[in-house]
Amino acid sequence: MGTEPGGYRHFSGSRLVIASHNAGKVREIGALLAPFGVETVSAGALGLPEPEETGDSFEANAELKARASALASGLPALADDSGLVVAALGGEPGIYSARWAGPEKDFSAAMRRVEEGIAAAADRSAYFVAVLSLAWPDGHVESFRGEAHGRLVWPPRGTRGFGYDPMFLHAGRDLTYGEMDPDEKHRISHRAEAFAKLVAACFA
Ligand code: IMP
Repeated sequence: MGTEPGGYRHFSGSRLVIASHNAGKVREIGALLAPFGVETVSAGALGLPEPEETGDSFEANAELKARASALASGLPALADDSGLVVAALGGEPGIYSARWAGPEKDFSAAMRRVEEGIAAAADRSAYFVAVLSLAWPDGHVESFRGEAHGRLVWPPRGTRGFGYDPMFLHAGRDLTYGEMDPDEKHRISHRAEAFAKLVAACFA
C-alpha cells in the first residue's frame, strides 16, 4: 500500500471491488484491469448497498461510491461518475445526466431536453466528463478525471453508443459517438483518459 513518488497510493492487493451494479461497466473495468493481475468483484455480487449520489461534483459522487464500497467490504474499491456538461446550459445536465433520462432511461427525451435548451444559443460546445475514484478501507481515495470536448449536433445521429452519444461530435471528428466504431470511441473518450491516468498512477 506504498505511496509512489508521484504522491499517489499504489494498488498492491489482488482483489478490487467495482462499486457498480451495472454488469456492463463491471465487465469492461474487469477486462481493463486484468492485465495488472487484479481480480475484480462487483459491489452487486457482494450484496453491498448502493449509496445515494448526494455529491455536488463528479468527484464527490465517485468518491462517496468508492468509499462506501471500500468501507463495507474491507477491500479497495473503484467507482466512477460521468456525464455531459453543456456550456449554454450553465453546465447542465452535468452530474444529473442519468437523471435527465428519468426512471425509464429515455435518452431520446433527455437529448430533446438538451436541444430545446440550446436551440437558440450560438454556443453548442459541450464535453463529457468521467471521474474514476479508487478508495481504500482506511478512507484514503485517489481520483482521476478525463474529459472529451466537442459540440452537440441535431438531430441525433447513429445507434452504436448509449446515453447522449448520438448528439456528441468529438472535436476534430466527423462522426458522432453514436456513429463511431466503439473501439475508436474507447480510444479517445473521457473514460479512456480517466482510465489511462488511473492505471499510470495506481496500477502500472
Ligand atoms: P453515471 O452512471 O451516474 O455515471 O451516469 C452517467 C450518465 O452520463 C449516463 O447515464 C449517460 O447519460 C451520460 N454519459 C456518461 N458517459 C457517456 C458517454 O460516453 N456517452 C453518452 N452518455 C454518457
